[in-house]
Amino acid sequence: MKVSKKIVGVEYAIRDIVTAARKVQQQGMQVDYLNIGDPVQFGFQPPSNVKQALIDAINKGENYYSSSEGLFELRQEIARKENAKGLLISADDILVTNGVSEGLDMVISSIVEEGDEVLLPGPYYPPYASYVRLHGGIPVEFAVNLTNSTPDIDDIKSKITSKTVAICLISPNNPTGVVFNEKSLKELVEVANQHNLYIVCDEIYDQIIFDEQFTGIGKVAKDSPVIVLNGFSKVHLMSGWRIGYIAFNQSPGLEAIRENLPKLARVRIATNMPVQHAALESLQGPQNYIQNFVGEIKKRRDLVVKRLNEMPGISCPNPKGAFYAFPKIEDDRFGSDKEFVTKLLESKGVLTVHGSGFGEQYGKGHFRLVYLPSIEILNSAMDKIESFVTQ
Ligand code: PLP
Repeated sequence: MKVSKKIVGVEYAIRDIVTAARKVQQQGMQVDYLNIGDPVQFGFQPPSNVKQALIDAINKGENYYSSSEGLFELRQEIARKENAKGLLISADDILVTNGVSEGLDMVISSIVEEGDEVLLPGPYYPPYASYVRLHGGIPVEFAVNLTNSTPDIDDIKSKITSKTVAICLISPNNPTGVVFNEKSLKELVEVANQHNLYIVCDEIYDQIIFDEQFTGIGKVAKDSPVIVLNGFSKVHLMSGWRIGYIAFNQSPGLEAIRENLPKLARVRIATNMPVQHAALESLQGPQNYIQNFVGEIKKRRDLVVKRLNEMPGISCPNPKGAFYAFPKIEDDRFGSDKEFVTKLLESKGVLTVHGSGFGEQYGKGHFRLVYLPSIEILNSAMDKIESFVTQ
């Protein structure tokens, strides 16, 4: 039977690669999974008050459909969080979604038509390109300097055409850990304004920052059309519960999307009700668990970056946020980045993701690994990678 042409362009390298790892495991080799950015799979858990809020909501009978836009109290609390980062919004400007993933699908399907182009930071989190393609658009990567965390504004300008409809930013970025500073964000907003582009900004790692202050897009955007995507999977350790949100700023340019996108929220009915209560508690309850989590993974980042940079033929910029390292493979004897990742998996049992899975143009020649596992596991994985590149 036939399938749609659209579906063919959908890829998700981070999970697609797992099939290869399963085969290696079936042959009896133990595999270190450094591919999935899920803190909860590596021993970090939501705090007990948040778990309790979920249980309490179920026991109190909060098991029915919520309103499509999400619980009012939760949206109020989300607005408070986003306002602290610089947006000027209220509960009415928020739509609660089943994760950022669903929010992204809703946003892209609302703004992209056949042949439209969407600028993405190179390299980018794969669903950005997949959803753009699924909705008939063309993803266009722009260059980012991974060492000093700055977008290449001239490169962006040279890639804007009459078909460009939006620029997507991911800060902190997956897969590179790049965090855009205030100056860069201002420059990006200026370019977007000159060309009448939507600014879609994914801030899901906003509190997972190691070395400097985080600046939210809201702080610099004023009344430029900004759509923020954010969620509870990373900072709030609720990945498996699937909850996130879309926040619109007050830009007059967003009038049409604000009227139309909520229809998508209505056709999918609602987001999981008990989980919305837990998300509310995660914002209202004590926040020290975030600091503990970030402090712990900073140690892991420092170890991994140091070890990678000591290896011959590998260089790794220091990720400023999130929990990914994105080393460059400088030695060409391994072939493509995909061959590097496959050979590393088959010979040493370490599962990473090929850089080209995050965008062919700027991702190739790199690989991504997650530094969420314990120091012990990371050290052992680093030993294995070292023996692979030195053999
Ligand atoms: N956005 C970015 C940049 C991510 O890295 C991820 C997960 O890795 C997501 C969104 C997915 O978010 P959610 O779990 O809220 O769907």
